[in-house]
Amino acid sequence: MTEARDTEHKGHTEGAEARRVLEELARERGFDLVGVARAEPLVRGGERLRQWQEAGMSADMGYMQRPPERLSDPRALQKSARSVVSLGVSYYPGDHPESAGGGRVARYAWGRDYHEVIKGRLFELRSELEERLGVRIKARGFTDAVPLLERSAAQNAGLGFFGRNACLISQKAGSYFFIADLLVDLDLPVDEQGEGTCGRCTRCMSACPTGAIKAPGVVDARLCISYLTIENAGEIPRDLRPKVGDWAFGCDICQEVCPYNKTKAARSRWPEFSAEAGAGPYLDIPGTLAIRDDTEFERRFSGTPLTRPGRAGMLRNCCVSAGNQRDAGYVPALAGCLREDGSPLVRGHAAWALGRIGGAEAAAALEESVMKEEDGWVLEEVRLALEELGEAEEKPGGAAEDATGRDGRIE
Ligand code: SF4
Repeated sequence: MTEARDTEHKGHTEGAEARRVLEELARERGFDLVGVARAEPLVRGGERLRQWQEAGMSADMGYMQRPPERLSDPRALQKSARSVVSLGVSYYPGDHPESAGGGRVARYAWGRDYHEVIKGRLFELRSELEERLGVRIKARGFTDAVPLLERSAAQNAGLGFFGRNACLISQKAGSYFFIADLLVDLDLPVDEQGEGTCGRCTRCMSACPTGAIKAPGVVDARLCISYLTIENAGEIPRDLRPKVGDWAFGCDICQEVCPYNKTKAARSRWPEFSAEAGAGPYLDIPGTLAIRDDTEFERRFSGTPLTRPGRAGMLRNCCVSAGNQRDAGYVPALAGCLREDGSPLVRGHAAWALGRIGGAEAAAALEESVMKEEDGWVLEEVRLALEELGEAEEKPGGAAEDATGRDGRIE
């Protein structure tokens, strides 16, 4: 089809009918929410981002430090874009079973890697749309993988409103959903901007263990457990480790307490996001702590979102989760990390966890490490852990006395 005929043809396909077909196909493809906005700069989102960056809250996430005008302009991604189609996919797989144990995993990561799964269906949606409308569509589809303020774009397209926890909350579906976007060169009828309110509810702000929600809608990434356990490549600061609780990957607390999720979240219809499709709700801590090389790590977790922090990052997280659970059953695996893991990051966090759990076997592993360890930062962690053990012995109740609940989460 020539460019001129293509444009002429599009004239017939744009408008209400094209929009109706889009919605019908999107729902058939399993998308729970569909909205459309004009492909124009996200002015409010850009301003929010600028303020957040200026306050230093983006930590070291390079992709969130790009100029707001770039991150907030859909046409910077695709020049020909006329409309932004925002789609929501529930990933809600249910709640963490209380009887299980291990390193707690945020719900979005129980199953397969959403990037690949959703991208595949976006391409299918585009092809079906072309077929039904009988026109070629220039489109770019993505989910959480390109520099665009996706939540702001989705708010513009009517999918939801920004909650106090900075999540996009849908009045119909809560906030356990992925956002995907399709930039298209079609002029489609647009939706009203997403409206809603948290009212006087501040449950998320009170429940956040680290106090990361600094003001309504403003999360300081430097304190957020999701950042600390996923994007953060370095140590988890000592003062924050006890607050991480038993989380080994991400954190759902500010969504768990949200009344919209309690009443509106419906289970995902995508089998790819079920616990059975991936690593599930809890990681086997001793099994994960025994992974000594990247090949084995990839073999265990490839195809799931859990590869994101890398092997050392994931073992670091499991050390912190184990230390907070204060379960003596984790001591042999932690001692193994301290003795033989090649990463100082892992050895240092293993030392911290051993100091927190305590007992003769943990003390012996720490003392052995004093003689052998060559890394200065790890040695400091070992020294502090031994100090903690000494202090715990002097206290009535010893190391078992704790401010955390049964599952290691701060009460
Ligand atoms: Fe706080 Fe967890 Fe929410 Fe981050 S994800 S803001 S740590 S409750």
